[in-house]
This record gives sequence, structure tokens and C-alpha cells, in this order.
Amino acid sequence: MDNPTPKIKEFLLDLFFPKFCLGCQKEGTYLCDDCRALLDIAEFDYCLCETKPIRLACFDATQHKSLAQGKPQAKCDRCKEKELSGLYSALPYKDNQLTKNLIYQFKYQPYLKDLAKTLASILIEHFVLAKKNTDEIWENSILVPIPLDKKKLKTRGYNQSEELAKELSKILLIPVVSDILVKVKNTKPQMELTKTGREKNLQGAFAVKPAFASELRRSKVFLVDDVYTTGSTMQECAKVLKEAGAKQVWGIVLAREELHFTLP
Ligand SMILES: [Zn+2]
Ligand SMILES: [Zn+2]
Repeated sequence: MDNPTPKIKEFLLDLFFPKFCLGCQKEGTYLCDDCRALLDIAEFDYCLCETKPIRLACFDATQHKSLAQGKPQAKCDRCKEKELSGLYSALPYKDNQLTKNLIYQFKYQPYLKDLAKTLASILIEHFVLAKKNTDEIWENSILVPIPLDKKKLKTRGYNQSEELAKELSKILLIPVVSDILVKVKNTKPQMELTKTGREKNLQGAFAVKPAFASELRRSKVFLVDDVYTTGSTMQECAKVLKEAGAKQVWGIVLAREELHFTLP
């Protein structure tokens, strides 16, 4: 049994390390159907606003197509100057213990790396609900995970954003290009800082490898991360990617800190 096939490997792992639902402890899965049904998976698109993200009423696949002709419709007026073209997020993070659990155990002990499959399936459900399952959106696209500090990578053993991107890639059939962005400066934990502090902390933290310049010019970039808080990290990455030639940089996150907000 030197090279067990993925199915046998999965069977053996389940046998020795059984999975338990992170919502109700039921055996056999990280998220049972009953608990999954309690998640509030977004059916609409919301702007990338850092507070009270506004629902984008008339943003659909057709609108997305018009983006290529230079008429952005994926952001509200407050956010139109921002580098990021738009944000796809499946879950609101606040007030939902199950969402918090899923993300925590994906990133911290017991380091459930293979939760990536469950989390990617939640994002795919959001894409289907919000009608994002069209060729126009995903053609000529690449997935770029937000890079991790070397120190964190060593402790965790994997970059959670990369794991999520790899699982999305299998379903969306678009490539993951992890090496495009590199973290060149160690940063302080963002949680401890104010908004201005966060931006300063991130300045010069990311760089684009010059070898990827031509790939960037012809692709639409989807940055992948687990959580979106103020968006400072994504904005900084979008900035360096655009300076390196990217035309459109979008964000994909499993969850965002702020609750979705619908205008009356
Ligand atoms: Zn459950
Ligand atoms: Zn906005």
C-alpha cells in the first residue's frame, strides 16, 4: 500500500480520524446537511464596502459582461475608486458561531486542512444562487491565493487560502497561480490594528513576480482568501497586481465580517 488511491486513502483516514460535524458533532462529515441548511449562504451580490455592504440589485451575468467594455457595475459609489473590482462572499461572519467554527478550525488547531472541500462547496453554492455559474465570468480567469507569512506557513503547514483556491479550481476549471504574489515583508497581525494602522502595516508587504507579467495582462484575477474584514489586504494585493499589468482584480472570500445590508 505504498501509493493508495485517493478513495482508499480517504477511507483509511475516515476510519482512523473520523470527521465530526462542527455544528452538532454528528459523525461522518465536517458539516451535516441539517447544519449546512442553517448557514445563511448569500443569494445576491454585495458591494465590497467595509461597513454595511450594500446589495447590488442589478448585477448579473449580463452586467458582468459589460465590465469588459469598461462600465463597472459591481461596486457602489462609495467604493468606485477602490482597486478591487468587486467581491464575492458566501457568508456573513458576525453572529454566526458555526461560520466562525468552520473558519477557525480550518486555520488553527486542529488544523483541519481538508475542510477546504466543504468550504469550497459553500462558495460554489453561493455562485449558483447568485447566478455566477456562467462562462463569461470565469473565462480567462486565474485564482491567486493571498500569500501567508513564512512563519505562519511553517506553523500551519499550509496556506488556507491556497487550499481553498485549489478546491475551487477543481470545480470552476480555472487554474490556481500561487506563485504570482509573494509576501516580502512580515506584517503584524491585522486584528490588533486600526484601519490606518492596517494600511500602513501592509504597505510594501506584497510583490508580484515579474515572470508572470504577460499572464497578468491577459487574465482576470480572482484573489482568494478565507475572511474579508476591512479589505485592506485585498486592496493592497489588487494594487500591486494592477501595477504589474492586471486589468481586473476581484476578490473571493468564504465569509465577510460585516452583515449584508439591503437598502430600504
Ligand atoms: Zn451538524
Ligand atoms: Zn461599496
